[in-house]
Amino acid sequence: MGSEMTVTGFYCNFLLPSPVSPEGFEKIKANMKAPAEPCVFELHSFSGIHSEEDIPGKFFQRIYVLAFATDRELREHKEQMKLASEADHRKIGAQLSLFSGSGAIGQGLVLWHPKGAMVRVLLEQYQQQMNISNGYSWVFTPHIGKARLWEISGHLENFSEDMYSPLEIDNEKYYLKPMNCPFHISIYNSEPRSYRDLPIRYAEYGTVYRYEMSGTLHGLTRVRGFTQDDAHIFCSPEQIEMELTNTLKLSLHTLSSFGLSGSSIYISTRPEKKAIGSNEQWEVAINILKKAVRNLGLSYDIDEGGGAFYGPKIDIKLLDSLGRDVQCSTIQLDFNLPGRFGMSYMDRDGQFRTPYMIHRALFGSIERFMALLTEHHKGDFLFWLAPVQVGIVPVRPSHSDYCRRLKNKLMDNGIRAEVNNGDMDMRDKIKGFSLEMIPYVFVAGDRDMEASAFFVRSRKNGKLGQMKLEEFLSYVEPELNEGKAKRVLD
Ligand SMILES: [Zn+2]
Repeated sequence: MGSEMTVTGFYCNFLLPSPVSPEGFEKIKANMKAPAEPCVFELHSFSGIHSEEDIPGKFFQRIYVLAFATDRELREHKEQMKLASEADHRKIGAQLSLFSGSGAIGQGLVLWHPKGAMVRVLLEQYQQQMNISNGYSWVFTPHIGKARLWEISGHLENFSEDMYSPLEIDNEKYYLKPMNCPFHISIYNSEPRSYRDLPIRYAEYGTVYRYEMSGTLHGLTRVRGFTQDDAHIFCSPEQIEMELTNTLKLSLHTLSSFGLSGSSIYISTRPEKKAIGSNEQWEVAINILKKAVRNLGLSYDIDEGGGAFYGPKIDIKLLDSLGRDVQCSTIQLDFNLPGRFGMSYMDRDGQFRTPYMIHRALFGSIERFMALLTEHHKGDFLFWLAPVQVGIVPVRPSHSDYCRRLKNKLMDNGIRAEVNNGDMDMRDKIKGFSLEMIPYVFVAGDRDMEASAFFVRSRKNGKLGQMKLEEFLSYVEPELNEGKAKRVLD
């Protein structure tokens, strides 16, 4: 039925009378003959896919095949895949009870467990404060909007296969939002704007819903409901270069706070087929994007034809700890929506003009960013992001009260701590905290109680010896500061 090449091989789609079983797949794998040289290949995996023409009693199945020019390349790729599977966020997410999916709820919908939710709260708090400290206004918008809104935005025309069926309320159709943009535009349009108001920057955590084929759903990286750290900037033509430069700067600073660096920047140009705006308009815009990147002394690659139909964009890709390029922030110019929604501002000369619009998401989506962080750090989150930062172990039951008080003092100082007052052996408790990847473990016995102190073990640096609370707090201060939001723009 159709096949397609990927970077590491290809896949083929089949129409079969029954779905492929794991045993059946192994059989096909064993009976497969090598195609023409020079190529080494190996069957990798299979999945069911949906097709527009559903045929009763038939199943669309996709088989993925690894294909390389040499044996060595195939081996290296398999080694890389092994490392990736050890760091797989789905595996670590289950081990550390960070998040899960449930068939009973629906495919592609995520349940955030307390520890995963804690990481999410911390990264959301950081990012919200970063936005507010750097000139963004925080907004909230609904999850659904009337059909008319999505007609104006062009979503129903261009994007409807990714949207869910409408809900009917008071004889009107409403759609779950696939994007937040029309809502931010509606806030802008809620009052007349002057050049003095610009730039206007709205940010929110907008939860959007998009249809993804079930065969393509994957952990947190491809889901059907996700939250974007979304923002829109509305500005004048004179402000656009500065706004783009600042957005890029904010993005790179934010990513470094999460221990992520080694990014590469791509500028996507006009797509060949469908695009709005004149060639000249695109060229001017792309030159502004290039300047914005150069303003920060950075270089870029061109993604020829990779822009959206409504404008060029800057993508930031990160090199993760497994050496993979991971798509992260997107900063997108938009020639389309301001006109469609009749946006305007009164310029200095009394004329009404259409503002420029930038869409930007620095994390991309919170779900995908969580997957990236989990895999990059292999579940061993930075101190400021660790759901539990300190695990406390009493040497004997008689030390439990002291440990509880110690925990409360840590919590009073904003450090998330847990005490293990269980019956198990002290060593097992220490080991348990270590398996949970808790950055610091305190052990407290008689001598510690007498000295109003505790014994500290660090995951990173081993045994640190006896410390008092104040000493520990100043010891971890630099690590805590990595997660403090601050103003980075002038
Ligand atoms: Zn947008």
